Amino acid sequence: MNIHSFSLNGMHILLDVNSGAVHVVDEMISDIMNVFDGGNDEEVLASLAEQYSEDELREALAELHELIAAEKLFTPALEVPPTFKAEPILKSLCLHVAHDCNLRCRYCFAGTGDFGHSRGLMSAEVGKKAIDFLLEKSGSRRHLEIDFFGGEPLMNFEVVKELTAYVRRREQEAGKEVKLTLTTNAVLLRDEELRFLNEEGISLVLSLDGRKEVHDYMRPNAGGNGSYETVMSNIDKAIRSRNDQNYYLRGTFT
Ligand code: SF4
Repeated sequence: MNIHSFSLNGMHILLDVNSGAVHVVDEMISDIMNVFDGGNDEEVLASLAEQYSEDELREALAELHELIAAEKLFTPALEVPPTFKAEPILKSLCLHVAHDCNLRCRYCFAGTGDFGHSRGLMSAEVGKKAIDFLLEKSGSRRHLEIDFFGGEPLMNFEVVKELTAYVRRREQEAGKEVKLTLTTNAVLLRDEELRFLNEEGISLVLSLDGRKEVHDYMRPNAGGNGSYETVMSNIDKAIRSRNDQNYYLRGTFT
């Protein structure tokens, strides 16, 4: 039934779900609507004959039919096209390689890395299956994207390395080009990690929340100490090492 009929604060209300129209009606119409299905007038007349006169009922039914004709009652449902095709084409993957984090940001959307569950790291095996899935479901699309994400993805650096090698091999076999990005809080963005990311041409998304006092307040580490000094030094090194290219600096402002 696409009509909700109910009473609230002494008012009798009809809600036409498909059009969103709301009608405040009298008690008789409300009683009629308990029986009326949009076209069974004779049934309404018979079932309410003891409560109301036939003239009253016919007049009310005529008004209801006017509302139906104006598409304000029993409105037909819209034909909404499905959001996804039966066989959707994938173009990108956000790989949560770490459901863990070394920071405890005050506004964290991810439960400080564990997403409300237990802390853990993705295995290479799971990551490879996800990559295979992306390639398999990308159809004729040639350019694809994978973001190493978390939590903090550099807490699972060995798996990031293994998956990068896997992507590079599989993209050739599949005739695709996969752009890689790593989103990091930069705490573990040390020389070794940076060298690898630069060599592999992996884009960086780096988090920094502004001045030291703001950043330290909003983004403390697990021990409660500010992360600005470490992060700023690593970010500075990273940007210089890639000649000011291929990175984004992202601030979160609450
Ligand atoms: S770095 Fe990201 S995942 Fe970690 S606590 Fe901060 S917002 Fe959350």
